[in-house]
Amino acid sequence: MKVLVFIEQRDGKIKSSAFEALTIGAKLAGSAADCAAVIVGSGVESLAAQAKGFGCDTVHVVDGSDFKNYNPANYCAAVEAAIKGHGAKVVVGTASPMGRDIFPRLAARFDGAIATDLVEISMNGNNVQGIKPMYAGKCLANVALQNAPVQFVTIRPNVFKAENTGAGAANVSKLTVSAVSGSRIKTIEVRKGKSEKADLTEAHVIISGGRALGNAENFKILHACSDVIGATVGASRAAVDSGYASHDMQVGQTGKTVNPSLYIACGISGSIQHMAGMRTSKVIVAVNTDPEAPIFKVATYGIVGDLFKVVPELTEKFKKLLS
Ligand SMILES: Cc1cc2nc3c(=O)[nH]c(=O)nc-3n(C[C@H](O)[C@H](O)[C@H](O)COP(=O)(O)OP(=O)(O)OC[C@H]3O[C@@H](n4cnc5c(N)ncnc54)[C@H](O)[C@@H]3O)c2cc1C
Repeated sequence: MKVLVFIEQRDGKIKSSAFEALTIGAKLAGSAADCAAVIVGSGVESLAAQAKGFGCDTVHVVDGSDFKNYNPANYCAAVEAAIKGHGAKVVVGTASPMGRDIFPRLAARFDGAIATDLVEISMNGNNVQGIKPMYAGKCLANVALQNAPVQFVTIRPNVFKAENTGAGAANVSKLTVSAVSGSRIKTIEVRKGKSEKADLTEAHVIISGGRALGNAENFKILHACSDVIGATVGASRAAVDSGYASHDMQVGQTGKTVNPSLYIACGISGSIQHMAGMRTSKVIVAVNTDPEAPIFKVATYGIVGDLFKVVPELTEKFKKLLS
C-alpha cells in the first residue's frame, strides 16, 4: 500500500507527533519502499534526515520562502504534489491544529475519504479502519474507510509510540511547487505563544488550573510546579474566559485535546467540556476542595484540599524527589 506521511514542522523543528505518524505510516505501508513522507516549509531540507529509520525510503521536500508560514492553500498544493508524486493511496498525519485544517481540505481535493483523531488504526485489505473518540470522549466509534481513491487519516498525538526500527533511507526528493496565485487566504502574521515549554497537545506532563485560581497572578504556583517537573501549564475555559490564562492554554472541547502521561487538574470541577479534552490522559491527579467534584470520577488519584496549600507542598516534594 502506497502511504504518504505529512511531517509537520514549526520553525524548523519537527513536531514529536510527526514521528508517531511516521511509525504508523510505515506499518500501514508494510515496506519502506511504499512509505514516503513530505515536509513543507522554508529551509527544511536538512530536516529530512531525521526521518531516517522511521520506515520511509523517500522524503519529499517542498522548500521555499512561500512556505515559511503555514498557509492552507500553499500547503495543500505542496502535499497534493507529494501525494501525486508518490501515488499515495493513504495519507497519514496528526490531529494537530494544522492537521485538522489541512486534511479535510486535501480529502475534498481528492474526493477522498477521511477519518480523524484515531486512537487505533489498522488496514482491512486496502482500506483503513480504526477507532475514534466521539461526543466529547463519551463513546468510541469504529470507523472504516472505503470506496475512495485516496484515504486520509489523522492520529491523536501522544497515543502511538514513535519507533525507530532502522528501516527507511529517508532519501530527499525535492519537489518544485509554486505558491497558489490568487489564493483567497493570505497569512499576515503568526503570533506565537509565550511559553518555551512543549505544546499542550504534545506534552507528557500537564498541570492545569481552573476558576479556583482566582486571578492570573496565582497561576505562578502552577508555573513553579511545572518548572520542577517539566510540565506544560494548561487551563479550564472558566480560567481563560476570566482572563487568568491565555486561550492557547485552554484544554477541552473548545480548547486543545491533550493526552499526557500525567495530568494534574487544580481547582477544576470536571465539566463534560473540560473532560472532553483530557479524559484519555494516562494518569489524572485532581486537587479540589469539593469531594463531590465530577473530576474525581475520572481521577486516578484525588486530593481533597485547597490547591493553594496542596500545590506548593507537591512542588516541594517533587523538588526533593528529583534533586
Ligand atoms: C459549548 C461549550 C464549550 C466549552 N468548552 C470548554 C473547554 O474547552 N474547556 C473547559 O474547561 N470548559 C469548557 N466549557 C465550560 C465548562 O462547561 C465549564 O464551565 C468549565 O470547564 C468550568 O471551569 P472550572 O472547572 O475551572 O470552574 P468551576 O466549574 O467553577 O470549578 C471550580 C472548581 O474549583 C474548586 N475549588 C474552589 N476553590 C478551590 C481551592 N482553593 N482549591 C481547590 N479547588 C477549589 C471548586 O470546588 C470547583 O470544583 C465549555 C462550555 C460550553 C457550553
